[in-house]
Amino acid sequence: MARKTIPRGGDSRQPKRRSSGSGAAPPKNRRRRPAPPPPPATLTTWTPGEVEAAFRRFEAANPEPRGELQHQDPFTLLVAVVLSAQATDAGVNKATPKLFAVADTPEKMVALGEIRLRELIKTIGLYRTKAKNIIALSRALIAEHGGKVPHDREALQALPGVGRKTANVVLNGAFGEPVIAVDTHVFRVANRTGLAPGKTPFEVEQSLEAVVPEHYKRHAHHWLILHGRYVCKALKPACGRCLINGLCRWPDKNLLSV
Ligand code: SF4
Repeated sequence: MARKTIPRGGDSRQPKRRSSGSGAAPPKNRRRRPAPPPPPATLTTWTPGEVEAAFRRFEAANPEPRGELQHQDPFTLLVAVVLSAQATDAGVNKATPKLFAVADTPEKMVALGEIRLRELIKTIGLYRTKAKNIIALSRALIAEHGGKVPHDREALQALPGVGRKTANVVLNGAFGEPVIAVDTHVFRVANRTGLAPGKTPFEVEQSLEAVVPEHYKRHAHHWLILHGRYVCKALKPACGRCLINGLCRWPDKNLLSV
């Protein structure tokens, strides 16, 4: 496989330009310094053997990774994932036991109604919009899918409040499809490590689709999320206890950080 260079940096964003210090304009008679040289183009894409090695280590450490959103079936998973947009799984898990105790099917959700649903999820960000979408998607499931969550990407994405990431989580978690949902953690890990760079979640998903071996795709999403959430954290990655620190391309690794 041809090795190509990837942008240097922790994620897909351009590095911030450093301030000159005081912010004042330089004196006119001072000679302008030459622009600094570009960073060395030494970062390369992962070889297939390296990707295999990384996922072999993830699998050895956690053979059956699970998502952290509590659910009982495809419908409650779908609702939990809609609730988790721009919220933490822990925050969603605090609210959903009471919600699912009274409304764990589309029919019961519609019967519950938007106002009572709002009350049950008001601790979660964007709860008004989410309540509206959950009632609307429950109605759509009853009207168009016999009250069942469809095992079909297009049909899932046609539901109110369901985008590609939510559809992928449901396809993977509820139906065992080997698709990789790209959330904020997967996006960061894929770019920072150089494993699957991309400027958008969709680009990263396509990159991962291309490089992750078939036999790891079923669980790749969970391994990468858990790695990003607990090890390769946004502000302080724990490179010292990272399973893939010998493979990762991030130039600012701190192997003393655990
Ligand atoms: S060494 Fe591990 S924790 Fe550190 S940046 Fe790379 S993947 Fe993240």
